[in-house]
Amino acid sequence: LVSRSAKPDNTVVRVKDVDIGGNFVMMAGPCAVESYEQMIEAAKAVKKSGAKVLRGGAYKPRSSPYSFQGLEEEGLKILNAVGRETGMVTITEIVSSSHIDKVSQYADILQVGSRNMQNFELLKEIGKSNMPVLLKRGLSSTIEEWLNAAEYIMKEGNPNVILCERGIRTFETYTRNTLDLNAVAAVKNLSHLPVIVDPSHGTGRRDLIAPLSRAAVAVGADGLIIEVHPHPDMALSDGAQSLTPEEFDKVSKEVNKILLAL
Ligand code: PEP
Ligand code: MN
Repeated sequence: LVSRSAKPDNTVVRVKDVDIGGNFVMMAGPCAVESYEQMIEAAKAVKKSGAKVLRGGAYKPRSSPYSFQGLEEEGLKILNAVGRETGMVTITEIVSSSHIDKVSQYADILQVGSRNMQNFELLKEIGKSNMPVLLKRGLSSTIEEWLNAAEYIMKEGNPNVILCERGIRTFETYTRNTLDLNAVAAVKNLSHLPVIVDPSHGTGRRDLIAPLSRAAVAVGADGLIIEVHPHPDMALSDGAQSLTPEEFDKVSKEVNKILLAL
């Protein structure tokens, strides 16, 4: 179902007034929802710079159990309120199939995180819903495993799948992950599904977000998802890779220039 031979034309996932897989789409916002004030400040800023989709995690699957785990349902409520107030489409991570009804009630797009890409029971349950889903590539997954994960969702009847390349684990430690732009070009050939690039987790470094964002546009991505925090040094998660609103505005302008040139 995911393969281009099954469906030659590109899939467009429509979420409210936003087409993903149509025009290039910018998704941005903090790694985690921390407070209403933080979210509204971030949302207003990224919207002004052209972002249509607001991100913010309420359930954070952190590498250490002692790190901030997210505001859970309180975070979902804040994301929902800020989405309504700014008229933005919202995306948030889902970590358990028992959360599907709850998360769907508050957010417009479900995000399956890298660590859950092969949580097949979660994928099957999301497949039974009709919710748009952004499926992140597993941190050590091959392209084939990633597409098979998408197939799990589509097989249950949900066609609204968006793929997201977010970097893979390699021997390189200077960056948090290695953003695999090969995979973006390859998957655009292999599948009709939209492909979004996440340079934030793909590099883990604020100084590399702009160049990798430009590269993602040039390689044919359908959009970007970028972590932006009003005060990155105070972020409760992923501050080192979060852009300030001003830096995001600059990236957004560069992306638009490249899009015009293509
Ligand atoms: C995130 O988007 O904040 C996140 C945890 O991403 P990933 O699942 O790609 O690590
Ligand atoms: Mn993050």
